[in-house]
Amino acid sequence: MKFAERMSHLGTETAFEVLARAKGLEAQGKEIIHLEIGEPDFDTPANVIDAGVKAMKGGYTHYGPSAGMPEMRAAAAAYVAKTRDVSVDPAQVIITPGGKPIIFFTAMSLLDPGDEVIYPNPGFPIYESMIDYLGAKRVPIQLRESHGFAFDPDQLESLITDRTKLVIINSPQNPTGGVLPRDVLARLAKLAVERDFYVLSDEIYSQIIYEGQHESIYSFDGMPERTIILDGHSKSYAMTGWRLGFGVMPVPMAEKVGKLMTNSTSCTASFTQMAGIEALKGPQDSVRAMVKEFRARRDLIVDGLNAIAGITCHKPSGAFYVFPNITQTGKKSKDLENYLMHNAGVAVLSGTSFGEFGEGYLRLSYANSRENLSRALEKIESALK
Ligand code: PLP
Repeated sequence: MKFAERMSHLGTETAFEVLARAKGLEAQGKEIIHLEIGEPDFDTPANVIDAGVKAMKGGYTHYGPSAGMPEMRAAAAAYVAKTRDVSVDPAQVIITPGGKPIIFFTAMSLLDPGDEVIYPNPGFPIYESMIDYLGAKRVPIQLRESHGFAFDPDQLESLITDRTKLVIINSPQNPTGGVLPRDVLARLAKLAVERDFYVLSDEIYSQIIYEGQHESIYSFDGMPERTIILDGHSKSYAMTGWRLGFGVMPVPMAEKVGKLMTNSTSCTASFTQMAGIEALKGPQDSVRAMVKEFRARRDLIVDGLNAIAGITCHKPSGAFYVFPNITQTGKKSKDLENYLMHNAGVAVLSGTSFGEFGEGYLRLSYANSRENLSRALEKIESALK
């Protein structure tokens, strides 16, 4: 087949490829502990499932408005307003099948070929993929372990040019678990206003935070007019398979993104949105219980990794990933990923799955039971001996 030229620029998420390889080994009878996939291992809360079932039985099985059901847009606006202490109009909210389409739609609506986009590296691979796909220019900014995996604002400033159209941030972050401190956000906000660029703030892990409160760039002066917040239900409410997320953006952009929804998926599933309203408005104890359990697992895995010769691990403040430094093992990240899969029976991701600055690191997701995490740590330690 003769594909469009742009298809050769589209990237992917290697987590799914590693999962497929792990499944292949399992099919041959090998035991694999899965620490590669980024989804909570908890069940969707029962009240949310009940709301979804009730909605299906109650006829919410038809098309709805492309931008999202008015009740869901209002619920998401109220949720973002409350959790970030800001004001949000429901007209700024677009409901999407998962948070990921907000990356796609932001890139589609803002980027022309040659526009420059500054984005975190290591970082979620879809940012880079979308920049390349649209012929925009990649400008990676390195996240450094020595800065708690935040970026250095001076470095950011040095990367801004007259062609900088968009800066992407992600806090709490995938893959490092890093959280951007308030002073870094304040500096970015000031630069965005002075140098006139937009910020896509990927806040999909906003509820999974272990120290202090989640802070959004949207809350700084001049930022509601130039910020796109990505958030959603996948991580906070263990709803990855329901496909429900949303974006908050300036109203003129919401109108464009609504049109992209009409042109692509038509709308997000109606019963999924009804379940999503219950998630945002109903009791929040399951979120609290999940975060408490993630914190215990984080401590277990960080301590366990630091006890293994050749590995050092920074303690992350959010999300459910650790990003240990493996340089002292003498192995390249991708080689160690393969080695651990075959010799320890533990599936992890090479740091380079998240960009060139991920060399020297692995990403482990601790969305797995404490028992499995302890077994994985033992297996990694003995495989490295
Ligand atoms: N943004 C980041 C940083 C993620 O890690 C993910 C999922 O792994 C997403 C966005 C997409 O989430 P969703 O499953 O809601 O599309």
